[in-house]
Amino acid sequence: MKEILLLKNGEIVLKGLNRRQFEDALKKNIRSVLRPLGSFEITSAQSTISVRPLDDDIDLDEACERVARIFGIVSFSRAAVCDEKTMESVLETAPVYLEKQLRTAKTFKVEAKRSDKKFPLKSPEICREVGGKILSKFPHLRVDVRDPDVTVYVEIRDTAAYIHANAIRGAGGIPIGTGGRAVLLISGGIDSPVAAYMMAKRGLRMIAVHFASPPYTSQRAEDKVVRLLQKVSRYAGPMTMFTVPFTKIQEKLRDDCPEELFTIIMRRLMMEMSQRIARDHDCSALITGESLGQVASQTIGALNCTDEAADMVVFRPLIGMDKQEIIDISYKIDTYRTSIEPYEDCCTVFTPRHPRTKPVLKFVKEAQEKAGFEPLIEEALNNLKKTPIFPEE
Ligand code: ATP
Ligand code: MG
Repeated sequence: MKEILLLKNGEIVLKGLNRRQFEDALKKNIRSVLRPLGSFEITSAQSTISVRPLDDDIDLDEACERVARIFGIVSFSRAAVCDEKTMESVLETAPVYLEKQLRTAKTFKVEAKRSDKKFPLKSPEICREVGGKILSKFPHLRVDVRDPDVTVYVEIRDTAAYIHANAIRGAGGIPIGTGGRAVLLISGGIDSPVAAYMMAKRGLRMIAVHFASPPYTSQRAEDKVVRLLQKVSRYAGPMTMFTVPFTKIQEKLRDDCPEELFTIIMRRLMMEMSQRIARDHDCSALITGESLGQVASQTIGALNCTDEAADMVVFRPLIGMDKQEIIDISYKIDTYRTSIEPYEDCCTVFTPRHPRTKPVLKFVKEAQEKAGFEPLIEEALNNLKKTPIFPEE
């Protein structure tokens, strides 16, 4: 039996004049996510995008898993394509295609949508006939129009007649690329991959920046970040990762700045350098995994000091979340087990014994200026390492 995927656009339906642009971006994203599985025809009509496999051997289970991660889709259904657009064909297809669901259900109802007005039967008639046929094949079933176990949908569209059951929930959000471009500051921890997922959901395309301080941090720590990004990019799309050589800057921090300000100055330098990378790559926001009060560098006072180092808007989607809520999402996007692998991050080398939780911006800036980081910043930015990131298969 031939099958097709029917995807429902989400919030993009609301976007008025931009709607076309959103829909095109969404179709492009769908195409690139499904390309490795074979060829598909992707068309849209009436806020539904149809994805029709063109090869016989396409793994539709895998296609559904991938579609479930594409932002901009509220729900989707895997549907049977009836051989002909006739009532006979509909009546033949529905009980066979949905046999498994109907056998295990107790109640059902039928809903018909008829966008092809030339089809001889009207929607209530279609429902009645299909319902009758199902009851005759599965006499244990009862009709329940309020809260059925299975809803049998019959869609008579211009292209063909389709049969499907309850829709599967999609990833929601808005299509990647329609919200602009941002730089993600990624460590090897639990939080920043979750922050990436959340901002990708709002339509941002991103590049990733990772600060590494070899030999204090190892190659394996950097490889872990690459693996995290490969998981993130299953949602956020392909991206480039820039590794910043941060060793000399951190050594200077250790040697020339007051110990209790190490962390806050380091955070400011990260912001400033990330912003410069953002400007060079057409990005207009920064994304971090900070959460209020989680550590000394994430108090209001510390965040005010960090924020001042960048003019660009900084998105901190986890700011009001508890660790457990963040962990729940990291399970969902499958980054948790990688995140907890015990490799060092540059944030954990030279950590002060007593970091300031209420740093005074004036003193922080003075200390930073006195040390004079500019030549080292330029040197580091001239020696970025670029790693292309593709979604983990
Ligand atoms: P995470 O779990 O993401 O590591 P965290 O709770 O450990 O976060 P911090 O280490 O203070 O918090 O880092 C806060 C944020 O700063 C991170 O979420 C990330 O956005 C950014 N960050 C930290 N370390 C790095 C790094 N080595 N490279 C790039 N960004 C970093
Ligand atoms: Mg960290």
